[in-house]
Amino acid sequence: MEKTALITGASRGIGRETALKFWREGFRVAVNYCRSEGPAGEFVRELNRLRPGSALAVGADVSQKGQVAEMFRRTEEELGPVEVLVNNAGIAQQKLFTDLTEEDWDRMFTVDVKGMFLCCQAALPGMIRRKRGKIVNISSMWGQVGASCEVHYSAAKGAVIAFTKALAQEVGPSRIQVNCVAPGVIDTEMNGALPPDAMDALREETPLGVLGQPSDVAEAVWFLASPQSDFITGQVLAPNGGLVL
Ligand code: NAP
Repeated sequence: MEKTALITGASRGIGRETALKFWREGFRVAVNYCRSEGPAGEFVRELNRLRPGSALAVGADVSQKGQVAEMFRRTEEELGPVEVLVNNAGIAQQKLFTDLTEEDWDRMFTVDVKGMFLCCQAALPGMIRRKRGKIVNISSMWGQVGASCEVHYSAAKGAVIAFTKALAQEVGPSRIQVNCVAPGVIDTEMNGALPPDAMDALREETPLGVLGQPSDVAEAVWFLASPQSDFITGQVLAPNGGLVL
């Protein structure tokens, strides 16, 4: 039987590749976007052309409770119960700590932490009722060890890890798994603002000597959503080329 996965921030990058992976594995996928309606719609049209009724583009700013509720309502109405939730939507910002504004701080936590909170709250009642479900939250290696000039991002991604571990304990008795993926440097638009020499330096520092691709993260997410990981919960899986050990 086909299942449904909802992937937030799936208009591009890691989220899009993750949605594609789940779709290839036979899932129906809800492709969430915030501003990129065009790319998300185009992606979903192509998936539906190849397998009618297999994908839905669903707009919502994950930091807005009403929009999150409507996203889950539409997804469940059109694709069925959400059995896998991937909290991938996120923003990043590089700035000296002393230059950070209160707005920078609030925006980071509103999208990267509150967004995950709201989506989990929307997904869990159904999962608890069915006594089945998997949640995968996307953190970052900077949430594990911290990064200079990314204090608010590191703090938010660290919160994602602690949130994952706490929620995993709370909903484990309902047979729901909550895990986390903490990627290293992945070649996406998120890193587009970094100068080429900074990307080269990160590649050189990475023991495997390459930048990660969105598919490297998508495979890790898939593993944590697949039956092969049924006894794994509250864990952090780190596709990072060995940069953070
Ligand atoms: P990306 O290319 O910048 O894509 C970000 C996605 O998040 C877009 O689809 C964007 O949608 C969506 N998004 C942003 N704000 C949103 C909001 N308020 N509501 C709903 N969607 C929103 O980033 P990426 O590199 O694929 O990163 C994906 C996740 O991996 C993020 O959580 C990021 O922190 C994490 N990560 C990335 C790296 C890396 O090196 N790239 C490393 C570690 C962790 P719209 O365009 O529609 O607004």
